[in-house]
Amino acid sequence: MELEFYGAAGRVTGSCHILRVGGAQVLLDCGLIQGRRADEALNRESLPFDPAEVDAVVLSHAHIDHSGRLPLLVKRGFRGPIYTQNASRDLCRILLQDSARLSERDAEYENKRRRRKGLEPISPLYTPRDADASLKTMQGLRYNQRQEILPGVELCFRDAGHILGSAIVELRLSEGEVRRTLVFSGDLGQYDSPILNDPDQIDDADLVLMECTYGGRLHRDRSQTIREIGEIVSAAAHDKGNILIPAFAIGRTQEVLYTFGMHYDAWDMARWHIFLDSPMAIAATQVYLDYPHLYDEEASKLRARLKGMPLLPNLHQTESTEESMVINRVANGAIIIAGSGMCNGGRIVHHLKHNIARRGNHVIIVGYQAYGTLGRRLVDGHETIRIHGEEYRVRARVHTVGGLSAHGDQAALLRWVGGFQKRPPVYLVHGEPEAAEAFSAKLSEAHGNRVTVAQPGLKLDLSAL
Ligand SMILES: [Zn+2]
Ligand SMILES: [Zn+2]
Repeated sequence: MELEFYGAAGRVTGSCHILRVGGAQVLLDCGLIQGRRADEALNRESLPFDPAEVDAVVLSHAHIDHSGRLPLLVKRGFRGPIYTQNASRDLCRILLQDSARLSERDAEYENKRRRRKGLEPISPLYTPRDADASLKTMQGLRYNQRQEILPGVELCFRDAGHILGSAIVELRLSEGEVRRTLVFSGDLGQYDSPILNDPDQIDDADLVLMECTYGGRLHRDRSQTIREIGEIVSAAAHDKGNILIPAFAIGRTQEVLYTFGMHYDAWDMARWHIFLDSPMAIAATQVYLDYPHLYDEEASKLRARLKGMPLLPNLHQTESTEESMVINRVANGAIIIAGSGMCNGGRIVHHLKHNIARRGNHVIIVGYQAYGTLGRRLVDGHETIRIHGEEYRVRARVHTVGGLSAHGDQAALLRWVGGFQKRPPVYLVHGEPEAAEAFSAKLSEAHGNRVTVAQPGLKLDLSAL
């Protein structure tokens, strides 16, 4: 019985761990490495196992840094089942197809460069067809449904409260006389976040693998953030402007819509035209609507009151490019939610082009903006920005609201891991080295667990625990 760390060990993205029990091999996640070009090139390297010899995959949630190499795994010979929560399977349909199209586009772009240099062309990491093949092998499970997936491997998904369908993976393993319970946190949500439940508390484990993305810091207060958004909406109404919200298609978009629904009367939302201008976000929102039994108490109450999710009466879902272009002519009274979340592509770029130079308009940044992205330049307060080769003066007001993270902060992570009664050893994954070190120190001080920051290639003999 052995666990080997491979991806998202010593870094955040590319989540993938290998479990060996009774001669079978099970992968926990098979995510894409995301970030700089040099990091992303690692996705093409050979895997430290033969995909044809993997018996099953257990997928914690749909995010690409956890699911994004599944099509590649299938392309390279994996033929087993992929187990995931039902809603995650539906979200994967959207995300993996999108990821396949992106990888085709990246290859096209790279090949233009290669042609100029007389180099051999490369093929895309995978195609929509490979994505389809991986989706066909997915088997959806409900939360708290215990199932034997292989001899000696019993799986149960518990709610992680991070995005819809996100799961904490609980595995009961047996090999000969040895019995072990392994808990893999997946990505954990923040407590009291909208729509979703709090992360499930689990009290028993022999070993815990946990994420520590924000292990080194505390988030800003959520209710303060919501108040700020309300103030921006009323300032924009006073200024007779538009509001632009760059947002990721899954999670953040639904949270923003939900917040508008919760404060519909208080913020006088009826005076706005709200545009959800992203085919991917529209599809993801539909999946959220398909799983009302996964909502928390507050969202369930609101849904009962509105006889449906707060899909706002003044919400326009614009799927086609033509519809999207019409929004560019709206001079005021529009709230436009579009991707990409960091403004480094997608429809939001066109909306910025038409709105950023006009006083009275407002931009609300609700998510993390990486260095080098257009969104980051807005956050950093640049006076001009460059879009499609042209300079635009930033006259719209840019607001960064910080309290909407889908990840638990240090306090939330401590609270969750504090739920394990016998203080099992903890291995930290899915964190930058500084965050992991900070959390490691905090955790051993607060609860006394033995904590290790996992490194790629590290192998653990589970029977020796
Ligand atoms: Zn995630
Ligand atoms: Zn993640």
